[in-house]
Amino acid sequence: MSSGKQKTLESFGNSAKKQKTDDTENDGQELIKEIKQSRLSFAASIKEFKFNKKRVRVLSDAKDIAENAECIVYWMSRDQRVQDNWAFLYAQHLALKLDLPLCVCFCLVPKFLDATIRHYRFMLKGLKEVSEECESLNIHFHLLFGEAKKVLPEFIKANNVGGVVTDFSPLRVPAKWVTDILSKLPDDVPLCQVDAHNIVPCWIASDKLEYGARTIRKKIHDKLKDFLTEFPPVVKQKETAKCIYQSTDWDKVENNLEVNMDVKEVAWAKPGTTAGLLQISEFCKKRLKGFGDLRNDPTKNNLSNLSPWFHFGQISVQRAILTVLKFKSKHGSSVDAFVEEAVIRRELADNFCYYNKKYDKIEGAYDWAKKTLKDHSKDKREYIYTKEQFENAKTHDLLWNAAQRQMTREGKMHGFLRMYWAKKILEWTNSPEEALEFAIYLNDKYNLDGRDPNGYVGCMWSICGIHDQGWAERAVFGKIRFMNYKGCQRKFDVNEFIRRYREK
Ligand SMILES: Cc1cc2nc3c(=O)[nH]c(=O)nc-3n(C[C@H](O)[C@H](O)[C@H](O)COP(=O)(O)OP(=O)(O)OC[C@H]3O[C@@H](n4cnc5c(N)ncnc54)[C@H](O)[C@@H]3O)c2cc1C
Repeated sequence: MSSGKQKTLESFGNSAKKQKTDDTENDGQELIKEIKQSRLSFAASIKEFKFNKKRVRVLSDAKDIAENAECIVYWMSRDQRVQDNWAFLYAQHLALKLDLPLCVCFCLVPKFLDATIRHYRFMLKGLKEVSEECESLNIHFHLLFGEAKKVLPEFIKANNVGGVVTDFSPLRVPAKWVTDILSKLPDDVPLCQVDAHNIVPCWIASDKLEYGARTIRKKIHDKLKDFLTEFPPVVKQKETAKCIYQSTDWDKVENNLEVNMDVKEVAWAKPGTTAGLLQISEFCKKRLKGFGDLRNDPTKNNLSNLSPWFHFGQISVQRAILTVLKFKSKHGSSVDAFVEEAVIRRELADNFCYYNKKYDKIEGAYDWAKKTLKDHSKDKREYIYTKEQFENAKTHDLLWNAAQRQMTREGKMHGFLRMYWAKKILEWTNSPEEALEFAIYLNDKYNLDGRDPNGYVGCMWSICGIHDQGWAERAVFGKIRFMNYKGCQRKFDVNEFIRRYREK
């Protein structure tokens, strides 16, 4: 009998045989070399590349960079990587065009929604790699501690910055950081935004809230020919910025955080771009083949597991897609399925959060869903649990508890189980509002990929039918799609999964 313990995500990080680890590492290093080469053969630098201006929008009234400007800043936020980053590339495009130095600023808040030390360490280790790579390219990396509106305008004035480029997030808090900065920038400093997370920029993919995958799919596929290109490299800057530069004291930064310190890091997910690229390589070699048929089986290891790196922007989805597409002739249906998830479903989630300001509230649901949930709000619930009972995996349902433990222990619940998990929270709480609140809280606290448009949409899909249709009416759920234990038993070996994540 196989030992369940060896099949958890943690065990993939820890106890794979050395020989196998070395092979995987070698394949990964080979991929990293190939990627470097393909960037260089595509263009020597961004200077020789015609930047697709559709990726950029100027947010400020100021449009031109002042003649006496001393540098360009890339205000990095969602996309925490150097290469394969259109926002970074656009900032370098401006710097090279004007013969100015380039700096990167990252504004670190000591606390962010339900993020814990698990998330912060993942992010900070990734940023450390970014700062080292920047240094090798003669680009200063400044970690500014505090909210952007408090620390960035000061930096811009003190260093006579000529123009700021930032990346894009549809979520409320980072979107507010951008509008705050707009009102605080000197009048003659332009602020541009580049969507470096989506392949097709969110505002180009569609100019409205889409009903579902079927309404956005063609719009995105039709535009891929313009946007799904190779990346030119970010190259070494000739000009050194004059700004006062202090390298980051990473220990001090961590000591100043105000986050939950109890949710521990996980061993299987090594932070940073290099580790993310190795994960892409491993996925292509070992798991992609089964992605098409087996991705809904939580006892099998066939997912890409890339969501933590995607979420923190440590790797680009576009790079993952370019790599996976090379396997099209070998694993056609798996490649198509991966494109559907990583491009269509993911970009649909950004569309939802961008065009629906109530993306994490029941009020943000379709009218039919709000009505059906209201009609069934008084229905008797068979079980009702508190937030603490959910958090401590103390429900009567062994599968639900195992899924919850997978998330708390490993920082990533299997995608199929996330749907079941959230739907059961709807079934076992007093109201859909409470269910949504609990699901988002737990998802964002424990999943490494939490606080992401995909997460808000995943919870909204499960609890209030976003991007879904009405189903046969039943108690509590109304017309919201129902899932049950028996359905899971028909799909995979539920007992095996429970055994792997039993209570310690
Ligand atoms: C209740 C619930 C909560 C979720 N919370 C999050 C979350 O916090 N963060 C998050 O990134 N995803 C979330 N998802 C979506 C999905 O479950 C995860 O993206 C996926 O499990 C991540 O694992 P992976 O990278 O191995 O995925 P793979 O199956 O390998 O897919 C590759 C990529 O495609 C994208 N993707 C896959 N499924 C979806 C989907 N249903 N919707 C949108 N994009 C998708 C992701 O970017 C993912 O990394 C949630 C789904 C549900 C139902």
